[in-house]
Amino acid sequence: MTTIPSITLNNGARIPQLGFGVWQVEDDAAEAAVRTAIEAGYRSIDTAAIYENEAGTGRGIAGAGVPREELYITTKLWNSGKRDWSGAQGQDAVLREFDSSLAKLGLEYVDLYLIHWPRPMHGSFENIWQAFEKLAADGRARSVGVSNFGPAQLDALAERSGVVPVLNQIELHPHFPQHELRAYHAEHGIATEAWSPLGQGKALLTEPALVQIAEKHGRTVAQVVLRWHLQSGVIAIPKSVTPSRIRENLDVAGFELDEADMAAVAATATGERLGPDPQGFDWN
Ligand code: NDP
Repeated sequence: MTTIPSITLNNGARIPQLGFGVWQVEDDAAEAAVRTAIEAGYRSIDTAAIYENEAGTGRGIAGAGVPREELYITTKLWNSGKRDWSGAQGQDAVLREFDSSLAKLGLEYVDLYLIHWPRPMHGSFENIWQAFEKLAADGRARSVGVSNFGPAQLDALAERSGVVPVLNQIELHPHFPQHELRAYHAEHGIATEAWSPLGQGKALLTEPALVQIAEKHGRTVAQVVLRWHLQSGVIAIPKSVTPSRIRENLDVAGFELDEADMAAVAATATGERLGPDPQGFDWN
């Protein structure tokens, strides 16, 4: 079994640097995929209320039979733009959503709870964060963090709260390396977690420069890309429903990208996102 490095977060908790994501995986398929992943050696799983597979993820976790304390489970609040998240009522709604996620997962606590999108146009993420502080204080969310936040939103939280998000989960892959946001995180003690770390398995995985590096090391392009994340100090959560790929993506120890490789990967940056720009994102 591969040894996965871990990162110490700003509250002292540790997170595996490589985890397993389940976006766009149907509930039943999530059960099988999560179980396969844990049996392969993953110890960190990333789901979200909006993925509608927390129940399947929970069954996969239970089925794998690994002691709970060895696992690192993340889920996310769907702070839908259709709802009012302001005031005491908004905070109660957060706590109810959290209870619902825990019940679906069949867990007594999660290791990490994230605000899924900042939706800055609603001005409610600061109030939501106060409810997150309560969840962190009572220990049912061992750590709390955010996703898709930019410096303006992170600054706003820092002004009002002593609880700094342990990490910010953002779109990040060699085509979209997020240098500025990573520098901000480093300065403020916030870890960086990459979503779509493999560029959603699209054009990134056929980049000629990456194919060349993969051939040089006798590895796959996906493994080279994940190695780049690890060596960049980023936490990555690749998704796959294919058992051979689930194992392949975990098998990234035992080789190292040298300086020239790292530079060649960096040179593939296009600056193009695959997902929406979080500053304007407001679906349902
Ligand atoms: P990834 O970058 O992880 O790519 C997943 C795609 O790549 C799938 O189509 C998969 O196919 C394919 N793939 C996986 N491994 C390989 C491989 N070794 N070789 C070739 N193809 C491969 O994309 P995601 O968008 O799923 O991101 C990962 C996770 O990040 C999500 O599952 C979710 O947990 C999180 N996320 C969070 C967001 C947020 O807003 N916070 C937004 C988006 C994602 P197949 O499954 O068929 O094997």
